Amino acid sequence: KIKNRYIQLVFAADVDEKVLLLRDLTQIKKYENLKRDFIANVSHELKTPVATLKLLMETLEDECQTNKTAIDFIKKAQGRIEYMEQLIQDLITLTMLETSKGIPFEKKKIKLKPIIDKIVEETSVIAKQKNVQVESLLPEDLEVIGDERLFYFVFRNLIDNAIKYNHEGGKVEIKYSTLPKEQVISVCDTGPGIPKSHLPFIFERFYRVDKSRSRKLGGTGLGLSIVKLAVEKLNGKVDVESEVGKGTCFKVYFPYS
Ligand code: ADP
Repeated sequence: KIKNRYIQLVFAADVDEKVLLLRDLTQIKKYENLKRDFIANVSHELKTPVATLKLLMETLEDECQTNKTAIDFIKKAQGRIEYMEQLIQDLITLTMLETSKGIPFEKKKIKLKPIIDKIVEETSVIAKQKNVQVESLLPEDLEVIGDERLFYFVFRNLIDNAIKYNHEGGKVEIKYSTLPKEQVISVCDTGPGIPKSHLPFIFERFYRVDKSRSRKLGGTGLGLSIVKLAVEKLNGKVDVESEVGKGTCFKVYFPYS
């Protein structure tokens, strides 16, 4: 950033030539910011009417208890309202992570196990419905560095997916291992796996391997892009290994300091 202009410097060299390219990205950045602000504003504006719709539907449900057809329609509408709520929440999280507006992220030592335990508890209802066993194998005293909310975003989305895309009676394991420079936390499931041809794209916004299945399961297609952004904010990286028919392992690497 030079004098309020965003200049990109690109350096390339081969045996006889060196090239330095300067690109002025100010205009592009300006449009990107406008787009982000617009998405953030629309999402915030939608929160109240959707909450009102939810309340109205609950009241209507109480009033229509004896009318089976009406109840069927109300249940369908409630499902769509829940989807809208999730979409709005994911868009707000995504723009908040992109702009870091309003909330500075902390950089301090925190214990990871209680965060994971909380997520396992929060997701236990869906896990029970699918008879999926979720096991956290993290050491009690495991410490990581960063902002608690960012770790929450990462593992909430990964654990949600590991349950959501699992088979009935499947298993989810949250494991810890170390590398010379990094701590590795893996979320592994026994679900259907992701075909190799889709793997390069799954962290893109709104990318779904199976659109109709993901929608049916309440997916917004934004979970993994939130994971990627939050991991980057923690100076880490995320990677996926998957085998069709066997399961998927998302591995998150965090530097020690
Ligand atoms: P969604 O809200 O649709 O789950 P995500 O961004 O979280 O969106 O994931 C993108 C897509 O990646 C999903 O639609 C799904 O097809 C695939 N996916 C993510 N996690 C898993 C998993 N653990 N097992 C199988 N497929 C997965």
